[in-house]
Amino acid sequence: MNSDFRDYLSEELNDIKGKKLYKNERVLTTPQGSHIETEDGKKVLNFCSNNYIGFANNDAIKKAAALGIEKWGFGLSSVRFICGTQSVHKQLEKDIAEFTGCEDAILYAACFDANGGVFEPLFDNNDAIISDELNHASIIDGIRLSKAKRIRYKHMDMADLKKGLIEAEDSRFRIICTDGVFSMDGDITPVDKICELAEKYNALVMVDDSHATGYIGKTGRGSAEYCGVLGKVDIITTTFGKALGGASGGAVCARKEIVEMLRQKSRPYLFSNTLPPAVASASVKALSLLKMSNGKYSSDLKNKSDYFRGRMKEQGFDVPDGETAIIPVMLYDESLAVRIAENLYENGIYVIPFSFPVVPKGKARIRVQISCEHTTNDINRLLEAFKQASR
Ligand SMILES: *Cc1c(COP(=O)(O)O)cnc(C)c1O
Repeated sequence: MNSDFRDYLSEELNDIKGKKLYKNERVLTTPQGSHIETEDGKKVLNFCSNNYIGFANNDAIKKAAALGIEKWGFGLSSVRFICGTQSVHKQLEKDIAEFTGCEDAILYAACFDANGGVFEPLFDNNDAIISDELNHASIIDGIRLSKAKRIRYKHMDMADLKKGLIEAEDSRFRIICTDGVFSMDGDITPVDKICELAEKYNALVMVDDSHATGYIGKTGRGSAEYCGVLGKVDIITTTFGKALGGASGGAVCARKEIVEMLRQKSRPYLFSNTLPPAVASASVKALSLLKMSNGKYSSDLKNKSDYFRGRMKEQGFDVPDGETAIIPVMLYDESLAVRIAENLYENGIYVIPFSFPVVPKGKARIRVQISCEHTTNDINRLLEAFKQASR
């Protein structure tokens, strides 16, 4: 490698380390789950995965993946429109569309790709995209790839969104984009109010439900169900890489004309390999388990999350009210958050501290994510460990 370039990279990397922004990866030696083991031989209780329902190592889902390989093979070695579409992919598209209350769906290798490929084919410089300031990186990148006018509104601020809609009044089409559940605060966007404004100002609505699909709303259909507007959102993007089994894959769910256009023009769909059939088969199973459960997972997760929130408040911690399984324990001070997380890890509890620039300055926190797989005993251990750490 060119030595100037190597020196440059070393310097930049040192700079990242100096700013304490360097990301180290802990290596697991077990499957994902509530109890895991890491390479240093430590057994820990895990409160930092997006495995909300516990599907990541679920027996029925693993079996569906194995059967998927047996029936459909390991890989397709093709994009969808050449020879990469099997019935299992069509089945998954039908099932995820129905689950999210949409007419049709199109699969992507990841939700990052879904968001990267959803705007550019649909909107150009005649149009405006109005986006929550805290939207996921992939939405921001997706918007950048289109030529549409970009307008940002303050996080979940409906008055500011209204201003944005007025600013966009002269555009041909307008679309409001937001995460359904925001991953750092665990807050749910008011999709009902957004749909109301969209109707008033003749705009479309796009919701990324990656942190919601599977457990938010009475039967886990996401933020639209939670807000009572299932079937009213124009575009829902979501991932199979979180609650729905946690492997990989994403989808855009929408009216059939939108999906049809994406199949013709969306670049991450056209120029990237098809989802492995094992993943498609397991994801079909995950959706079918959810449908059969009739909201059991949603209420279980809500009860466990409420229990943790309530007890943490009793213990004197600053935990905002919330409705999701993402629970920020606010510590504000960055080094305090790091120290407490380290102390918890020593005590066999795995959580992650977040500080600037991932969250605003002075808003450092430890993010706890509850899973259906956690027992009351697991949560009590977490509560006790927080109590001890805070001393
Ligand atoms: C995780 C996440 C994504 C990315 O999903 P992948 O399928 O892992 O690429 C996109 N949007 C939001 C809001 C997410 O939380």
